[in-house]
Amino acid sequence: MDKYKIEITEYMQRIIEEEASTQEKALDKVKKEYDNGNICLDYNDLKGLDIEIYNPDKFKSKLDILLERIDKFNKDRDWDQFHTPVNLSKSISIEAAELLECFQWDNDKYNIEDVTEELADVLNYCMQLCSVLHLDPIQIINDKMNKTEKKYPIEKAKGKSIKYDKL
Ligand SMILES: [Mg+2]
Repeated sequence: MDKYKIEITEYMQRIIEEEASTQEKALDKVKKEYDNGNICLDYNDLKGLDIEIYNPDKFKSKLDILLERIDKFNKDRDWDQFHTPVNLSKSISIEAAELLECFQWDNDKYNIEDVTEELADVLNYCMQLCSVLHLDPIQIINDKMNKTEKKYPIEKAKGKSIKYDKL
């Protein structure tokens, strides 16, 4: 049997090797793995393939899979009814306060497990607010980065913590 390489750069480089007698059969195996939810890909990050990936629209990123998981969690518990934009905004703020609580009495000493959990809560509610408002989290952060890069040009802002209108 020959081996066909599928090289994927997702968040880190990954190579999937499929053993098959023909390239077509290797592709079939990949398709099956994908349909079973065992492959998590971002089509835009695919490169250098021996095998042409079928139906790129079907490939999901890790973020898509995470959002689906959060969505299912809420649907299973019938909690969507509570997740209005204002309630989710309150929840982001509450969880952000819990994150800050981790550093309440000491700036330097903190429990990384507590910080990690509270940070996860903040991010989770941010993702949920994006879903409710039909916003793509990666898109909105990139859009805002485009604006912020213009507001804070490197020549003016480097090494300074001053607001853009005072630069
Ligand atoms: Mg919390």
